[in-house]
Amino acid sequence: MHGGGPLIACPHCGALHQRAPLARGGRALCTCCHAELYRQGRLSAEQWYALAWASLIVFAWAQVFPIAAISVQGLDLQVTFWGALREAWDRGYYGVSVLTGLVGFWLPLIRIVLTLRSLQIIFSRSDPERLVRPLRWLERLTPWAMASVLVLAILVAFVKLAGLAHVQVGPGLLGFFVLIFLLAGLSRWDAAALWRLAEDRSRVLVSGALGVGAVCDRCGMVQPPRGSERCRRCHGHLPHRVIQHRGEVWALMVAAVIFYVPANLLPVMRVQTLLGSTEHTILGGVVELWRMGSWDLSLIVFVASVMVPVTKLVALTFLLLHEHPVGVGEQRRHTRLYDAIERVGQWSMLDVFVVVLLAAMANFQGVSQIFIGPAALNFGMVVVLTVAATLRYDPRCGWDSLREPMHD
Ligand SMILES: [Zn+2]
Ligand SMILES: [Zn+2]
Repeated sequence: MHGGGPLIACPHCGALHQRAPLARGGRALCTCCHAELYRQGRLSAEQWYALAWASLIVFAWAQVFPIAAISVQGLDLQVTFWGALREAWDRGYYGVSVLTGLVGFWLPLIRIVLTLRSLQIIFSRSDPERLVRPLRWLERLTPWAMASVLVLAILVAFVKLAGLAHVQVGPGLLGFFVLIFLLAGLSRWDAAALWRLAEDRSRVLVSGALGVGAVCDRCGMVQPPRGSERCRRCHGHLPHRVIQHRGEVWALMVAAVIFYVPANLLPVMRVQTLLGSTEHTILGGVVELWRMGSWDLSLIVFVASVMVPVTKLVALTFLLLHEHPVGVGEQRRHTRLYDAIERVGQWSMLDVFVVVLLAAMANFQGVSQIFIGPAALNFGMVVVLTVAATLRYDPRCGWDSLREPMHD
């Protein structure tokens, strides 16, 4: 059926393609749903291996050196992101501290380490079976690592604090800026790309080499359907048929809506100054930024905190209700919509990061202090639940229902 090259199954529609080498900077699109299948970066895997080590060093830099030095009436404070997380924990905001610590610190760090480890195994002569575990974890953790949005959160926190205190940029912030670029490049080496690299270096079974009929959702290997319950390459369970977790997607979305209400009605933070105490909701914070003259940041916070979660919920509802498209054009639009909501997920975390940073930055007892409000954790839950719902939704189902009549 095919001429020997590795096969790749489109994760968005399930169509099979023969994978051909690309020129540097090139992209391969699915002929069926038009989503991106794979791309060839400008740098080689070896160069990215070196850059992954650099990311680890920059990560440490960004966490060790203060991102800001703040002074209020002769009192000085140096703030690091790690310090802000500990501060939130010490003051009893356990939920917010654990959530922001996981998505902003631990998971991005683990992701760099797993990418490094996987590249190391691919390059070395060691047993390729050892690739299975790091790549499985990399695949699971990737959607939850949200470090990129941290830089924006730091900028918003700076602007919000400008009225309360004298804020000076610290060297840690430079580390965060460099880190964002490194992480963006490194994110191309997701589990699927690393499996393809291992194929190209003849380290693992080539996708499609044994036959076709089933696709492993974990490592993307195309293989014969019968003879094994588990993937011949990564030992993950092989689905007999694409399983759509409709009920789970609905349940996660309903839960997200329930958390969304207190997330917007309750205060996200309380500011205590010598003049008194004021409470701010998420929307109130948007208005306040606008009044302070930062209409651009105000717009970003509005889009990230209000528009993105609502759009995600509306778009997912639309996709679930229109599972049987009438034509290919309509289904392509559905695929693009799903692709978009999958990408924007982490930006909603912005405001949660902002309040954690603000609580640590404005911590001058008796002079000015910021307390984290109950909306922060509720809002964090909305982000977690909408990301989980997006992950449970299977964009291939619409394509399956389009293809079924053709077989009859
Ligand atoms: Zn496709
Ligand atoms: Zn597999």
